[in-house]
Amino acid sequence: MARVIVLGAGTGGMAGAYEIREKLGSQHTVSVINEREDFQFVPSNPGPVVVGAMPGASCYGPAYEYAFILDKELRNNKVRDRVPMIYVTPEPYIGHLGLGGWVIQSR
Ligand SMILES: Cc1cc2nc3c(=O)[nH]c(=O)nc-3n(C[C@H](O)[C@H](O)[C@H](O)COP(=O)(O)OP(=O)(O)OC[C@H]3O[C@@H](n4cnc5c(N)ncnc54)[C@H](O)[C@@H]3O)c2cc1C
Repeated sequence: MARVIVLGAGTGGMAGAYEIREKLGSQHTVSVINEREDFQFVPSNPGPVVVGAMPGASCYGPAYEYAFILDKELRNNKVRDRVPMIYVTPEPYIGHLGLGGWVIQSR
């Protein structure tokens, strides 16, 4: 009788354990050991976010709105500290917003 131990119940470990289980006869055992109790689907974990507006855009407000809405949502879910946010803009200074037709004047 074989005793298979899979270390790590992540994306690879879980799939591997099911594959091995299916291929082995029922006289063999397959155990999965993980460092934490809950399963984490790694691609769904929060990563860095880049929010920005394209050069030539006439209105920059929606990019700010999106950044602040996302910031609030991340805070509500208590994961804001795990998600670095980068804001990219061609505005001459933060908060310019394209007001006064800056883009049109600069053409
Ligand atoms: C933001 C992001 C998006 C991604 N998007 C995709 C995608 O779209 N498509 C794609 O194919 N791949 C994607 N990947 C990559 C994919 O998630 C990884 O390649 C995959 O999760 C690796 O699988 P793994 O089983 O090797 O590691 P993991 O899934 O990280 O699993 C490792 C497991 O081992 C456990 N562990 C660690 N140390 C110990 C210990 N000492 N004892 C016991 N258990 C332990 C951990 O808790 C974890 O459960 C993405 C990754 C990230 C970060």
